Amino acid sequence: MSELAVEALDLAPVQAVLAQYVGQGRSALLPVLLEAQAHYGHLPLPVTAEIARALGVPLADVHGVIEFYALLYNEPVGQTVLRVCTDPACALRGGDAVLEAACRLAGVAEGETSPDGAVTVERSPCLGHCNSGVSVNVSSGQPVRNRTYAHVAPDTVADLFAGHGRTTADFWSEDYVGGDLSIVTPLCGRGRRTRLVEYQAVGGMQALRKALTTMTPAAVIEAMHQSDLLGRGGAAFPTWAKWDGAAKALGQPKYFVVNADESEPGTFKDRVLLEGDPCRVLEGAIIGAYAIGASRIYIYIRGEYPLAIERVGAALTELRAAGYLGDNILGSGYSVDVEIRSGAGAYICGEETALFESIEGKRGFPRVKPPFPTTHGLFGKPTAINNVETLAQAPYILIHGPDAFHRLGTAESTGPKLLCVSGDVVRPGLYEIGFGATLRHLIENLAGGVLGGKLQALLVGGAAGAFATPAELDTPITFQGLRAAGLTLGSGAIMVFNDTRDLRDILRRLARFFAHESCGKCYPCQLGTQRQYEVLERLAAGNTLSGDVSRLQDVGWTMTDASLCGLGQTAAAAVFSAMKRWPELFENGNAS
Ligand code: SF4
Repeated sequence: MSELAVEALDLAPVQAVLAQYVGQGRSALLPVLLEAQAHYGHLPLPVTAEIARALGVPLADVHGVIEFYALLYNEPVGQTVLRVCTDPACALRGGDAVLEAACRLAGVAEGETSPDGAVTVERSPCLGHCNSGVSVNVSSGQPVRNRTYAHVAPDTVADLFAGHGRTTADFWSEDYVGGDLSIVTPLCGRGRRTRLVEYQAVGGMQALRKALTTMTPAAVIEAMHQSDLLGRGGAAFPTWAKWDGAAKALGQPKYFVVNADESEPGTFKDRVLLEGDPCRVLEGAIIGAYAIGASRIYIYIRGEYPLAIERVGAALTELRAAGYLGDNILGSGYSVDVEIRSGAGAYICGEETALFESIEGKRGFPRVKPPFPTTHGLFGKPTAINNVETLAQAPYILIHGPDAFHRLGTAESTGPKLLCVSGDVVRPGLYEIGFGATLRHLIENLAGGVLGGKLQALLVGGAAGAFATPAELDTPITFQGLRAAGLTLGSGAIMVFNDTRDLRDILRRLARFFAHESCGKCYPCQLGTQRQYEVLERLAAGNTLSGDVSRLQDVGWTMTDASLCGLGQTAAAAVFSAMKRWPELFENGNAS
């Protein structure tokens, strides 16, 4: 939008947006900013001033929020904004070449807007399409619409300028879903949303009916306890303990939150679930809300997942019409409804307390813990928050029982697990296995083996994970087995690198991701992620300085020990694991 247009700004559109959020105060800030930006292209001062006035938020705070989130702009941007992923999985498929081609076509440098205001080209952190890169997120149209595309190449990126391209909505093959089990994913990977009637036809919503009509909240929590279901988002915390803590906490109202801010490089499982079978996730969330006595459910979906947001919205409409949401659900006397909240481009909002801050209309800074969310969560009230995959497992447990759930995994790592396989494999995709299968089985049998060379390394657990060597392929995929091997399951991401890849370049990209996503609240992480990136950039370029390796170690240990939240505490994990397994990579700076 030109400055001339800003001067003649019509405030009616933002006032219409604000009218939808009367009475919500500051918690409406992020949705209002996103909707206002869809009308105006960016967020000019008269618009932000109107929002600040209407919501009772200081104007400086409004701009602090805008500057925190990558998808919000307080300066004009192009009518089309392209965000090209160059994180590791997309980099292996040519992310840098796509970015260069987009810049060349637009006649701009990275991060700039063309002189005619038509196009802005940006480098993006992981877009959650690691199985189908190169991925590009595009905002365009009037009102601005956001879509994320897959399989973009240098010679097809021009299609995106014209509004064409392939998304997971267009081609079923964009998300390959396979594995040994089909407990959580039987209705995923079909290129379309599973409708409520289809989900019901295979037993869907029976678990909610059973819970609400035959079980007390305490009995639901006990079933989860017996199942030993551990959280699938990365922290592996017992699900029942979160529900029990929130159920017993004093204070009303209580909230149930679905953490769908999946942003860990290499991870796309929650996107596939939400796009393919949202009713299963929502059924798990309503069961959890009933268990803790929540009066409202929030599902916070990352802004780069527009298709998931659209499909969850459609599923909610069906669930309300069928009486699974709203007042007196299934005649049980229990009432609850769900509100979707879109993220706006901040990886740190996947941290549970940062996510609460974001819903409350603030910058996504993690809170100091304790107190914990079960007693002081969203809006300071008792809250349970669970990952998407975790909730998708709950209906099976209630219908088939904890013992059946146990039998799908091992004694200590129970149930099925979704694994996101990307990189140099024949069949990148989402694989559902029972805990206990080995990395070798996953890579060689299920994913079809290594592509383009011999296996050099696996990055297990995403950007915050650790590298494994070919000698570790027989490690069982369990929480305990991976820990014993010095690895971590994390969010279930497994990236494969053949022996033609330079791991120093992969480390450089991981470090850039953390430096970009550090929220800046605490110095060890704010400064450490920057210094780590600088050293790894020199290493990848073969220009190391004297003392760089010990500098890298010092920075890494400082971040690990002194950072406030998990981002800083794990930002050096992959670097340390690479140092341990391939010390020769760090001995000289001459990248191959
Ligand atoms: Fe923010 Fe990093 Fe500190 Fe976490 S560790 S609070 S992301 S600066």
